[in-house]
This record gives sequence, structure tokens and C-alpha cells, in this order.
Amino acid sequence: MAIDPREPYDPDNIFAKILRGEIPCNKVYEDDHALAFHDIAPQAPVHVLVIPKGEYVSWDDFSARAPEGEIAGFIRAVGHVARELDLVDPGYRLLANIGAHGGQEVPHLHVHLFGGKPLGRMIS
Ligand code: C5P
Repeated sequence: MAIDPREPYDPDNIFAKILRGEIPCNKVYEDDHALAFHDIAPQAPVHVLVIPKGEYVSWDDFSARAPEGEIAGFIRAVGHVARELDLVDPGYRLLANIGAHGGQEVPHLHVHLFGGKPLGRMIS
């Protein structure tokens, strides 16, 4: 079920539990600002989720409220993960679902990183 982005942050959402180490994940990368792990139901040969360590419901919440250092650190972490996974050439895709129309299901900001095969064009 898609989330309502107007709801306050739920500290018991599944990614909050992963950040606290209460639920395991298949970790790819971690630094002060971000954690990256393999999606449990991959939609491509490489499907990694990158999440900020701060409590943000969505990209909208993050871009409105996060201090600039957290925003910069998170964006740098996403790029770092793609380079670490050797995806830059031939390329990859980033996706963030936001709210009900975006189809967001987990109410903690996450950027999907897809790669490992030609992904086709989403916009024609
Ligand atoms: O963007 P959206 O909220 O729909 O994506 C949530 C993603 O979190 C899904 O791709 C799902 O497979 C993933 N997930 C996960 N590990 C969990 C729960 C969900 O990788 N424990």
C-alpha cells in the first residue's frame, strides 16, 4: 500500500529497523550519511537501495528539511555506490518513488539504483 507523504516519520518503518540493525540487510556501502543495500526483490541484475541515515519520509521531506551537509553527503553516497558497483559505464538508472501517486511503499526516503543490463527508455 502506498504511503501518504503528509504523515509524520514512523520510527518503526522497515528501513528505520534496518538502520538500527534490528533487521538484517545485504549491505553494499555505509558512511556517515547513507546506507546502501541490495533490494530484497530485485527488479534488475543490480538493484540497490540507498537511504539517508536521517529520519526523512520521502525525497520531498528530505529536500525541504535536511541540512545541506546531509543532502550533499547523501547525493555523494549514491554516486559513490554506482562507481563502486562499476555501473558508470555502461550506465544505470536512479529512481525515487514519492507518495501515493509515486507508488512509494516504505516511508523512509530511498533511491533505487538499477543496472547490470540495458534498461530501455522510460520516456519516449
Ligand atoms: O519505492 P518503494 O517504496 O515502492 O520501494 C520499496 C522497496 O523496498 C521495494 O523494492 C522492496 O523490494 C524493498 N524492500 C527491501 N527490503 C525490505 C522491504 C522492502 O529491499 N525488507
